[in-house]
Amino acid sequence: MTRHAVTLIPGDGVGPEICDASVRVLEATGVEFDWDLQQAGEAAIAEFGTPLPDHVLESIRKNKVALKGPITTPVGSGFRSVNVALRQALDLYALVRPVRAYKGAHNLRDDLDFIIVRENTEDIYAGLEFERGTPDAEHLIEEISTVSGSERIVKFAFDYARRNNRRKVTAVHKANIMKHTDGLFLSVARQVAAKNTDIEFEDRIVDNMCMQLVLRPKEYDVLCCPNLYGDIISDLGAGMIGGLGLAPGANIGTNGAVFEATHGSAPKYAGQNKVNPMAVMLSGVMMLRYLEEVAAADALEKAIANVIALGENVTYDLKEKRDDPTAVGTSQVADAVIAQLKAAV
Ligand code: NAD
Repeated sequence: MTRHAVTLIPGDGVGPEICDASVRVLEATGVEFDWDLQQAGEAAIAEFGTPLPDHVLESIRKNKVALKGPITTPVGSGFRSVNVALRQALDLYALVRPVRAYKGAHNLRDDLDFIIVRENTEDIYAGLEFERGTPDAEHLIEEISTVSGSERIVKFAFDYARRNNRRKVTAVHKANIMKHTDGLFLSVARQVAAKNTDIEFEDRIVDNMCMQLVLRPKEYDVLCCPNLYGDIISDLGAGMIGGLGLAPGANIGTNGAVFEATHGSAPKYAGQNKVNPMAVMLSGVMMLRYLEEVAAADALEKAIANVIALGENVTYDLKEKRDDPTAVGTSQVADAVIAQLKAAV
């Protein structure tokens, strides 16, 4: 059996608790890991004077795979987002966020199953733009959205669709207003689509996309989004399947991948053994698939789905009422998932 070297970044806020719970269920699958524990965020500032020390990036470059908890970003002042810096430093250009309804969760509909592929490195969404070619505009527009950046994310979406038996890619944009930045993204998307005719292609303006997802989600399959729209649609998607506690993600680049939940560090719940670890656990399922441990991935996803469906050993966010006294804590969810894994053997 292959042992997998994986960088483990617990992060801060609720990160350490949900990562601990996720490591326990990942190990219970029988897959063997060599965890390379690394601190980033508040813990790293205390120890190394910076929230993202070089040796953390080096560890991910070496292992090529990381499981990461959320990291707090100070609002308005303080250090830049460690999450954004890490994605850029490692050129993790594609963020894959599945939106899947599990039976028993508070789903908008029980048949939801679509994938958000979010561009992860560009698109500062400045709201300021000038016509391409005018003297002081060229540099700004190039910074916001590039041909190469657009091309690689759309190619990634088509490759992802093909590998995962998905039928359609929808490019999401606001090219009617942002003609030179989103317009570039859309025209590159159409060019890539013309070379990938085995997969259907269409485009949607982002505001319409949001409404369509709520009303007619079954018409959509793989959504390919620039950075900011992908960020917003990710939370819309999380809301459609019962909340952030069930929304996983994978940051993928050419030389490695970092798996993390969509949600943040929820600092008000830190240290309380309260929040749902399933978004990180499901990110772990994605990691197992990336590591080609497909049987373990399927078993873990099924075990998590069973715990959700039974509805007993779940955290407050999956209960009908958020103050339900029968809600369990983070570590008890891990115990329940492990029990399901053992019961299935
Ligand atoms: P958040 O996602 O941390 O929390 C918002 C709310 O969602 C929480 O108060 C809680 O009610 C709920 N929630 C989140 N995760 C949950 C879980 N696992 N189980 C149950 N409920 C859950 O968003 P925020 O408060 O806007 O951000 C807090 C910090 O996290 C900020 O500093 C932000 O920058 C950072 N952040 C980090 C990442 C990341 O590390 N990738 C992502 C988003 C936000």
